[in-house]
Amino acid sequence: MATASTSAELREQNRSRALALVHESGGSLTRVELAELLDVTRTTAAALVSDLSALNLILEHDADPTGRRGRPTTNISPHPEGPVVLAAEVANDRITVAEVAIGGQLKNRKDVKLESGDPAEAVDQLDQVLHERRANLASNCAGIGVAMHGLVDDDSGLVVQAPNLGWENVPLGRRLRQSHRLPVKVDNDATLGALVEAKRGAGRLARTMLYLRSTVGIGGGLVFDGTPAPSRRGWHGEFGHLPFGDTRHRCRCGAHGCWENAINQLALAAAAGIEADPVEANAAADDVLNRAKAGDAEANNAVARICGILGRGLGSLINALDPEVIVLSGHVQRLYETDPATTVDALMSASMRAHRQSLPPVRSGVVEHPALAGAAEAILTDLIDSPTRLLAPN
Ligand SMILES: [Zn+2]
Repeated sequence: MATASTSAELREQNRSRALALVHESGGSLTRVELAELLDVTRTTAAALVSDLSALNLILEHDADPTGRRGRPTTNISPHPEGPVVLAAEVANDRITVAEVAIGGQLKNRKDVKLESGDPAEAVDQLDQVLHERRANLASNCAGIGVAMHGLVDDDSGLVVQAPNLGWENVPLGRRLRQSHRLPVKVDNDATLGALVEAKRGAGRLARTMLYLRSTVGIGGGLVFDGTPAPSRRGWHGEFGHLPFGDTRHRCRCGAHGCWENAINQLALAAAAGIEADPVEANAAADDVLNRAKAGDAEANNAVARICGILGRGLGSLINALDPEVIVLSGHVQRLYETDPATTVDALMSASMRAHRQSLPPVRSGVVEHPALAGAAEAILTDLIDSPTRLLAPN
């Protein structure tokens, strides 16, 4: 945010800071707490609250009637009829859409089967699904955020390569902007998940967070002080395509020996002797993990084998990136939670002695549906940065 030079700019900056606090509190804050956190007088806080209420961004209501807080104040929460962002995630077999308002809660999440493997038809379907959802919205739509399982040019929203969908150079961002005339953000699902997990999840307060998320493929990101680590085109974090797997195996990305093929749901099912179809991969992996938790020896062996490969990769990433905390989401999180001992043993065996003395903690992600939440967060951040400018009537 730029430094304010006029009193109007300063007031807008304070509105933005107040709205950010309401958003990050996840729902509820008192007016007295807001004044303290902003380090402004109660009169100034009251004026900011009044501005943001007039914009339908927040709602002020009576505080806890028990009066435990000792002095009269009011609670401030995101306005129930405030603007929402439509967030979508395109996976290899489905489109998931939800509404996300200030405060970050997801509402009305719904899966729709992806009708076609053809990129142009899939984009048409996504566009249609978004229009239908917008037509039924009770609130103002502030923009659209889309999480893609692949490499994305995050400025234009061009999907450069989505290996599991078979998409290459699909101009998704441009198409949605033209169709909806709204701010549109398209980015990689793991990059978006990493950002939201760093901002208000398991990586909060850590300066460097290594994030690994697996759905069908495995992606990730390194977040530094709340921002993705810089890279040439924003394509860093494709940790699933590091050659920690069997080099005889060619991955759909074009490389050989990719890690994700050695630890994904299909690999876990195969380790337990199940030849699953890709569409049944999730169910097959869940079955193996559930059997392992119930004490089935064969399933436990399969989980241990895959956790060994997961742990060795994590140890290598610690050597390469020296993160303060590692956050896991999706299938890799479930693997780790099922057999943390084997994962950590393998992680130790792959990490340099200097790292072993002080390993970064491995945590489970806490943000629900991180890709959707992250896709919305990008648009919400712009809204929070300049609430009046973005909501002023044209
Ligand atoms: Zn690959």
